[in-house]
Amino acid sequence: MKVEIITTGTELLLGEILNTNVQYLSRKLNSIGFDVLYHTTVGDNPERMQQVLEQAMERADIIITSGGLGPTRGDITKEMVMEVCHTESYLDLDTWGRIDEYFRRKGICQPSENNEKQAYVPIGAEVLQNDVGTAPGLWLEYNGKFFILLPGPPAELMDVCEKQLWPRLLQRFTDHGVIMSRTLHLRGVGESLVASKLDELIQAQTNPTIALYARYGEILIRLTAKAKNEKEAEKMLAAAEKNVRKYVDEYIYGIDDDTLGACLGRLLKEQGKTIAFAESCSGGLASSLVTDVAGSSEYLLGSVVSYTNMAKEKLLHVQADTLEHFSAVSRETACEMAVGVRNLLGSDIGVSITGNAGPGASEGKPVGLVYIAVAMNDVVYCQEHHFMSTRTENKLRIAQTAISMAIDKLLEAKNTEDNN
Ligand code: ATP
Ligand code: MG
Repeated sequence: MKVEIITTGTELLLGEILNTNVQYLSRKLNSIGFDVLYHTTVGDNPERMQQVLEQAMERADIIITSGGLGPTRGDITKEMVMEVCHTESYLDLDTWGRIDEYFRRKGICQPSENNEKQAYVPIGAEVLQNDVGTAPGLWLEYNGKFFILLPGPPAELMDVCEKQLWPRLLQRFTDHGVIMSRTLHLRGVGESLVASKLDELIQAQTNPTIALYARYGEILIRLTAKAKNEKEAEKMLAAAEKNVRKYVDEYIYGIDDDTLGACLGRLLKEQGKTIAFAESCSGGLASSLVTDVAGSSEYLLGSVVSYTNMAKEKLLHVQADTLEHFSAVSRETACEMAVGVRNLLGSDIGVSITGNAGPGASEGKPVGLVYIAVAMNDVVYCQEHHFMSTRTENKLRIAQTAISMAIDKLLEAKNTEDNN
């Protein structure tokens, strides 16, 4: 079944909001075996929306729209779909009752007159009830094509999909098979090395497919299998993973939703160690990533965002001399910060980040130059890095790199212990 997703709304075209609905819909549809072949975005303009709908009818079997079901004049999706399907609408009393009830629950006595528009249902359409908003979704078959109209607010769209649409799609189209994916997360290795190691596998890939991409300081390998059912897809993914592991097993630290923060947490717990961060240019992001994991208070004692030299001196006891002679962006400062935060909070490990996230050079140090230090046992390790993205992306990569370096040191400690 070929699917086209049409997201509507001028604010999407203006770049004012991120089109998260299209991502959510595509992911889910692919995972339940539908082929999403087109994404189209169109503004709230009747002629252009009609053109887009007519084009979709020519190239897709299932056309899913998001947005434009609201009560205002600018909300025209339903009207345009009725136009291309040559149908009229009627006031659906059930839906009207539910809208009324929705307003009562919110403590508003009556819906406004505009809301009546939302209770009009195209003749022949089925209502996909919306429990968290006023605009219901709609399911309309016309000339062998399926039109599915969904509300734009993400929470409403998801509610309608989870409760109404996915079960209905699966029931209606049973022979579509499934598409399942598995993502392997790698660290401590560059994309080109992974690509060359997997070259033969990637060249020969058919089903499952193997896709490689770099994201914020880690490499992801995505395996995607198309099969008759989930069990078979699982089997294919397991075999493909085994194959990939033959080449890059040493770099794989996690699967699917795993993160570097979670990986660090597992190692700290395993070794019964605690950690603290001293962050300058990353602004607390490394600590934030570590605390994305539930239960992280077991090993993250706390962190200091020492953004200025004053904070580095006062809170972490970095020597004024060090800052003056070597500047804040230096190995020397990084090392003193790592030791400083460890002393301050009494953790086993202190990790520090100091650098210049950009976009302008500061203290004569180039953009993207960063020092990361890890104080552990009697040693302070320090690495110099150069990051070349935008400020926001640099910060994320810097934070991930610091977490990854802490992981390296914990693994080294574990290996030494195992060898002794
Ligand atoms: P409403 O009743 O709120 O008017 P609607 O079904 O008419 O709902 P829109 O007016 O298109 O939907 O969008 C409402 C809001 O939902 C937008 O302002 C935006 O915040 C969010 N939204 C719409 N489309 C998307 C999208 N594709 N991805 C993410 N958010 C979206
Ligand atoms: Mg609207």
